[in-house]
Amino acid sequence: MAFKVAVIAGDGIGPEVTEQAVRVLRHVRADIEFEHALVGGAAYDATGHPLPTQTLDLCRSADAVLLGAVGGPKWDQIPDPKLRPEVGALLPLRSELNLYANVRPAKAFKALVDSSPVKLGPNGIDLIVMRELTGGIYFGQPRERRDNGNLALDSMVYHRSEVERITERAIEVARTRSKRIVSVDKANVLETSRLWREVVDEMAKANSDISVSHMLVDNCAMQLVRDPGQFDVILTENMFGDILSDEAAMITGSLGLLPSASLSDPKEGTVFGMYEPIHGSAPDIAGQNCANPIAAIMSAAMLLQYTCEDTASAQRIEMAIERVLDSGVRTADIGGGASAVGTREMGDAIIAELG
Ligand code: NAD
Repeated sequence: MAFKVAVIAGDGIGPEVTEQAVRVLRHVRADIEFEHALVGGAAYDATGHPLPTQTLDLCRSADAVLLGAVGGPKWDQIPDPKLRPEVGALLPLRSELNLYANVRPAKAFKALVDSSPVKLGPNGIDLIVMRELTGGIYFGQPRERRDNGNLALDSMVYHRSEVERITERAIEVARTRSKRIVSVDKANVLETSRLWREVVDEMAKANSDISVSHMLVDNCAMQLVRDPGQFDVILTENMFGDILSDEAAMITGSLGLLPSASLSDPKEGTVFGMYEPIHGSAPDIAGQNCANPIAAIMSAAMLLQYTCEDTASAQRIEMAIERVLDSGVRTADIGGGASAVGTREMGDAIIAELG
């Protein structure tokens, strides 16, 4: 087998949607080996920890990880917050696997363009937010309370090397698209942003095939609503990326259809990544075969693109989804109404369209 994928389907609708993603991957490539492991609440119930060592070891030994979703009300009451699925599994997965580059595409499917809350211009929306995922204010020290709890302190910290490696990933991604990067910062105020801009400029000089411009984060938030079609790759730090990627996702009008990849350094020439839908475990609809599997299937397509470097298969999947949606097949969340199909049936339709 050429590639080993760790499948950690997790909780709620995670297993249902991930099953369809694995079916699609099996359909388009015969050389992927899948190994399953528990994560999240399911792992906590079985082993007492949301990220058992066995699961982490499997992920470390794989070429890529396919994650469903974790969490749900059943585990919100676990007394030790470090053992709750989101904190005890998601954050350590990111840091242990060194997943510093979060790639969040925001693209509106043609058939669903009218569900965007903003009026999309002729360019629509088809962009990627490259968010630095393991640095900045979410991780910086010190982070503490002083003055009897009346003063709170968070620290935004970036090292040159952290900016360099995310910029390198963004340049690689831009090279597969329109070769345009907008780097977003707050360089008029923040020292970390001035370092960010300095490093990005240096790297832009060394990669003259890529056009790089800068935008302040407040302006970017406005421009995304005004004309999202102007952007191709947005490169930004952790907190700005967190906010802007959700804004961009909402503009597509199909939050439940969007995938993501979190990438690390290439391992023996292969880009290691964890691929997951941006939605959560949707406990309200879990176990009913009505969740939309498209975000999970699009995440599988990203796995093909980045880890397997098989852009052709990734595009084949995306086009099959596009045709299925064009033909009017819908799950309940995207307006299927009385004729809505289920999770498995949406998977069937996409596989049938792949031929
Ligand atoms: P959610 O994304 O799970 O659900 C929000 C709404 O969208 C719900 O009404 C849900 O039914 C619907 N929805 C989500 N995905 C859908 C799909 N594929 N098809 C159809 N409808 C879909 O967000 P939430 O309700 O805020 O969180 C539920 C749980 O998931 C929480 O425990 C939360 O912590 C967790 N969560 C996990 C992740 C992750 O694993 N990466 C991400 C976000 C939330």
